[in-house]
Amino acid sequence: MSFSHDVKSELIAFSEAARASGNLPLCCRQAETYALFLFCRSFGASEMGIRTEHEGIADAYVAAVKEMTGHRPKTERTAGGKYRITVEDPVDRQAILSEFGYSGNEVNRRQNTGLLQCENCPAALFRGAFLTAGTVTDPEKDYHMEFVLSTKNLCSDLMAQMEQAGLSPKYVMRGGAHVIYFKDSESVEDLLTLMGATESTLELMGTKMYKDMRNRVNRRMNFENANSTRTFDAAYRQIEAIRYIDRKRGLESLPPELRELAKLRLENADYSLKELGENLSEPISRSGVNHRLQKILEYADDLRSVEKLKKRS
Ligand SMILES: [Zn+2]
Repeated sequence: MSFSHDVKSELIAFSEAARASGNLPLCCRQAETYALFLFCRSFGASEMGIRTEHEGIADAYVAAVKEMTGHRPKTERTAGGKYRITVEDPVDRQAILSEFGYSGNEVNRRQNTGLLQCENCPAALFRGAFLTAGTVTDPEKDYHMEFVLSTKNLCSDLMAQMEQAGLSPKYVMRGGAHVIYFKDSESVEDLLTLMGATESTLELMGTKMYKDMRNRVNRRMNFENANSTRTFDAAYRQIEAIRYIDRKRGLESLPPELRELAKLRLENADYSLKELGENLSEPISRSGVNHRLQKILEYADDLRSVEKLKKRS
């Protein structure tokens, strides 16, 4: 699955958990649902529906229609596996429009800012907008997030909301569509966090750290051969494990001899095992270092299993 798809899954899960635990106030729930409808290609008296590749988004749309009208919308799968959901009954379309404060006769629909009632409502609106109209590029390739909207008005209203939230959206017109985009890693991280996709933010930051580190180490060493790439990948895995332990339990949770090595590795991505061993307060051999690093990796793996179990329960 793409990074974009994963982000959407995380946002859906975030929203469901927040609703179930009562942490998403009614106003924010409505703002999110509103965006899910408003930023679709078709949202009007004569046509209303969504097309999405994401099963979770399709389910959320269906559930929202059912909640507002009491009827299930028509759901189809296209040959390409996309979900196509249509609100067929004009009475239902009208009910949904008026739920969000529209008559259906608007020529140039604007965003109904009256639906944003608390300080967290904009984040919920962005989440819904991203589910409907957003994509984010795999950070391995590039830092880029965008929202593709069908009208200029909806685009500038959403941009204004984002600016108010302290973000710096950029605009471009592409193939008749209005596109809001962000292309620096900080903005993408900020928006992901704001919408509730913290795991994806961490993944993006991890990838960024990996790329930065690779570049830095590349400058210092000659990385022409596969052997040094392997050495670097091993160092990166160790650093990732150490950072994970630090985040979840703190490095203080490690026994002293592992803790000192962990700190040394964290600060010196480009040290060889030999260099690591030589720089410990009580120097040890290359194989001794290797043995301790293995223990650190195992400790992180154990922590990950515990976290997974916690999430499931
Ligand atoms: Zn709210």
